[in-house]
Amino acid sequence: MRYSKQRELVLQQVEALHDHPTAEEIYQNALKECPGLSLGTVYRNLNSLVEAGRVRRVPIPGQPDRFDHTLSWHSHLYCTRCGQVTDLALDAEVIRRLLESQPGRVTDCVLTWIGLCESCAQEDEAIKTPVAAAL
Ligand SMILES: [Zn+2]
Ligand SMILES: [Zn+2]
Repeated sequence: MRYSKQRELVLQQVEALHDHPTAEEIYQNALKECPGLSLGTVYRNLNSLVEAGRVRRVPIPGQPDRFDHTLSWHSHLYCTRCGQVTDLALDAEVIRRLLESQPGRVTDCVLTWIGLCESCAQEDEAIKTPVAAAL
């Protein structure tokens, strides 16, 4: 398979998985379409897609990077219980004010929140709140 074709395939997988997949997940899916593909090739293509600004890298502390096809700036919440990475909207005005007070020139910002996703947080609340309390 030609290099540009592999790159397109990797990009398609990031778009198809749309839940911030890891390189490994992208590789497993791409393998179905292109047997013989190597994980190294997927990494190389992901890196060049990130450099070209067609895919965003989502770093998670202590975890493998995730990849995102949503290019507009947003932050992420990493759930320490189920491992899900969800989009978190931020007040652009607050960010702009913060940037204006910084020295130097900021070109990008990666913001990852750590905690529980909505469904894990709800589960947590249900455990903390005994049924009797709701009566
Ligand atoms: Zn969760
Ligand atoms: Zn995202």
